[in-house]
Amino acid sequence: MSDKRDNQNRVERDAFEREIATDLDEETPDRPRGMALHTKILIGLAVGVIAGVAVNRFLGGDHPTVVWIVDNITQPVGQLFLRLLLMIVVPLVFASLVVGVAGIGDVRKLGRVGLKSFGYCLVLSAISVVIGLTLANTIRPGTRIDPDTAAALQQRYATDATKTVEAATQAKSATPKPLMSVVETIVPKNPFFAVSGKEDANMLHLMFFALVIGIAITLLPVTVTTPVLRVLQGVYEITAKIIEMIMKVAPYAVACLLFNNTARFGLDLLQALGWFVITVLLGLSLHMFGVYSLSVYFLSRLSPLEFFRRIKTVMLTAFSTSSSNATLPTALRVSEQNLGVPQEINSFVLTVGATANQNGTALYEGVTVLFLAQLAGVDLTLGQQLTVVYLAILGGIGTAGIPSGSIPFIIGVLVTIGVNPALIAIILGVDRLLDMCRTTLNVTGDLTAATYVARSEGYELLRPHEPALVHAGVPVAERGMD
Ligand code: ASP
Repeated sequence: MSDKRDNQNRVERDAFEREIATDLDEETPDRPRGMALHTKILIGLAVGVIAGVAVNRFLGGDHPTVVWIVDNITQPVGQLFLRLLLMIVVPLVFASLVVGVAGIGDVRKLGRVGLKSFGYCLVLSAISVVIGLTLANTIRPGTRIDPDTAAALQQRYATDATKTVEAATQAKSATPKPLMSVVETIVPKNPFFAVSGKEDANMLHLMFFALVIGIAITLLPVTVTTPVLRVLQGVYEITAKIIEMIMKVAPYAVACLLFNNTARFGLDLLQALGWFVITVLLGLSLHMFGVYSLSVYFLSRLSPLEFFRRIKTVMLTAFSTSSSNATLPTALRVSEQNLGVPQEINSFVLTVGATANQNGTALYEGVTVLFLAQLAGVDLTLGQQLTVVYLAILGGIGTAGIPSGSIPFIIGVLVTIGVNPALIAIILGVDRLLDMCRTTLNVTGDLTAATYVARSEGYELLRPHEPALVHAGVPVAERGMD
């Protein structure tokens, strides 16, 4: 009997998906229509892959019809989805972080939440890099690739590689002293430039600015801060509605994104780089299903199966967009609605995590550097491998949550350990596929961190929680949403 009551008070496993399936102006998300969202996305994914692979096999990636379809149909539709998601990231991150930090309430608790998130991220990143390097040292993919194939690949992607290497080294040569660069990386001089200086917003600058505002709010009387908090909570609610709207086109967009990636992707690459791809995928799977399952089970006290079931829409979004930033809006909603993580924890852990907690990226960076070093015949000493571990962990923290965000970082590490950075050309052809997989791991890692931090802060998971605004002290009658 009490079990039954317990179950009744739980958040639905697919509360977010039900909301998407409901009419947009319907208040009660309890009458979903048609097929579940994640099923639709999965079908989109399968259609995209099957069509792309078939077209690639029978016509070839460079066939004029394929190029036309990609350029005029699938690329624009895929980009539309991606850009719509990215479009709301800036207002969403700002509003959600300010309200979240204000909801956490006091600076000491915020410090605790920050330290726990940071500690968790460091430990898990280190584990992921060690898994990657152990596999790379055991399988030794760099010695298994045929030198002629490697030379051919290097030639095929030489132009792309030169451009990337140039951009990466230019950025590097302008980097000042370490402490100075930490300050410059985190603290903006002008927060408006952070979001409008170039097309990709500087998320770390934006987050720092929001964090400082949130902290200042906790130090002021509620009467002063209530109007600002109400506006920002309003912005948060509006972006939530926009996500619902955008996710309705997700299945079609996912089909297009997957078609783009497979139709022009040479399947021969998979064979040529087979051992490298296997090493990366094996590492990612061990971390995803081994380490995360243990973390979720022991630290969050959730059944791993149940956890993965509840977050599948987030995993599918990360897989198809290859961008942690673009997945953040969906992750925030799913974490709150399907996992019952309170808004104030989500908004801190997930937003910061989208940029700073990237276990998949760290693992990938480690394996790739080792692979290319093996290929170049450079035998790394233990000391150099430890440098790679350290740099890959930093890489996971510093890499932007955008497609191919890792590449400039890998170039930097190659230069540091004395391997020719132009070798990056060899892996560029399979980077997108592996990016989809590592991004899925990155985002899943953020959700495991959110459940861990929430539980360790005494919140019950899988239960509905009050909005952060209530914890920020905004009087209920004034919230204007009840
Ligand atoms: N695409 C990855 C992400 O957004 C970053 C990377 O490893 O390239 O999480």
